[in-house]
Amino acid sequence: MQEDQACPLCMGKAECWVEDFGNRLHFFCERCGEFEVSRKVKDLLSTSQAMRDSSLQKVQAAPPNTFAEFTFRFGTGIALEYQQKRNPGS
Ligand SMILES: [Zn+2]
Repeated sequence: MQEDQACPLCMGKAECWVEDFGNRLHFFCERCGEFEVSRKVKDLLSTSQAMRDSSLQKVQAAPPNTFAEFTFRFGTGIALEYQQKRNPGS
């Protein structure tokens, strides 16, 4: 399912795919790149410019063929993992 959403990092126009029964949002932003956030993380990012800046750096530091995935963990806050990109067309 595709939603029209603003990029949670730069507030620009981005493509957004909803995954995991609506719990996670996968963004393709022309400026920031490809990344995935949970709904909780998206809410948190909207409250803090510092958090958006540091998250953008992590998105842009992703190793080749991976994207940054941000999830919220109680106790530790936002957790980052780099995930392999899915093969287009598979
Ligand atoms: Zn963006």
